[in-house]
Amino acid sequence: MSTRSARALVLEQPRTLVARELPVPEHGDDDAVLRVEACGLCGTDHEQYTGHLPAGFAFVPGHETVGVVDGIGDAAARRWGVAPGDRVAVEVFQSCRVCEACRAGAYQRCARHGLGDMFGYIPVDRPPGLWGGYAQRQYLAPDAIVHRVPNVLDPVVATLFNPLGAGVRWAVAVPDTGAGDVVAVLGPGVRGLSAAAAAKEAGAGFVMVTGRGRRDAERLAVARDFGADLVVDVAEADPVRALRHATGGLADVVVDVTAKAPEALAQAIALARPAGTVVVAGTRGGAVPEFQADHVVYKELRIVGALGVDSAAYRAALELLAAGRYPFADLPRRVVGLDGAEDLIRSLAGEAGVAPPVHGVIAPA
Ligand SMILES: [Zn+2]
Ligand SMILES: [Zn+2]
Repeated sequence: MSTRSARALVLEQPRTLVARELPVPEHGDDDAVLRVEACGLCGTDHEQYTGHLPAGFAFVPGHETVGVVDGIGDAAARRWGVAPGDRVAVEVFQSCRVCEACRAGAYQRCARHGLGDMFGYIPVDRPPGLWGGYAQRQYLAPDAIVHRVPNVLDPVVATLFNPLGAGVRWAVAVPDTGAGDVVAVLGPGVRGLSAAAAAKEAGAGFVMVTGRGRRDAERLAVARDFGADLVVDVAEADPVRALRHATGGLADVVVDVTAKAPEALAQAIALARPAGTVVVAGTRGGAVPEFQADHVVYKELRIVGALGVDSAAYRAALELLAAGRYPFADLPRRVVGLDGAEDLIRSLAGEAGVAPPVHGVIAPA
């Protein structure tokens, strides 16, 4: 008989987020229970909420979780190198560690788990139900991957392990960005800002960040603090001209992290230099108009998709956050309790008439 319960928000169907008390499981030898301190939000949270990403089942969302290890079995403690009381960040994907994809480090394609088994996207009906960060406790199954959070980091700031991990992988590791490279980042959200900082940290010689219109004004205004040498509002100016004017040429690496902006890919291709690399990371949310495949041929471009983050990038992100060289702690952000979660999620896409925060975080307490 379980004597403890945790408050959790269950997305029962699109736009129906219901508070429930779920029993907290006892951990076994090979798993753990986390006391959730903070869970960051991204565009995926809004797409799940609206049903744009249809689940077809009820679940506890939340996939950017930071918390304190509450109870943990000996085998899990040895494997993860953590003890009760340690603050950890939880990766989105699970890994069986033995299948071919996992051994190659590509555990997004784990044969046992894959994309259908991500934290924050698992049916609440599957015991113990506490599979996401919108809850006071989260279950850490044996195949979870966790990272120690450096002591200097506050849990709310530490939730940036996820977008900054994406920045490291998408703007540096995947395109192999190196010293002196000219990098263009399309999309000034928290992932774009993270990509800019990661590129600069990797030695990029020049970083441009673009956004569009009033919605992005606040984000573009802070982009220079995150490594951008040039910011361009594409509603006002042609980014290709602006980049040529500033650098005398085009970009070695273009990182497209725009969301719901299918037309950005054409711009990404226009911004890349001959034999340059274009990383496509944000999902388009639709077909791409005006896509001229011939430009890819003439320029001999390398177009690479990037899905998710890996452990090396997460660790680099946590170190970069802890180093404090970029003002991630001061990002314009809204932090709410479970009661305020629905309102915050709606505001992420500009619903509810208020400007979306650059960084939104749920702190379940
Ligand atoms: Zn996310
Ligand atoms: Zn696997």
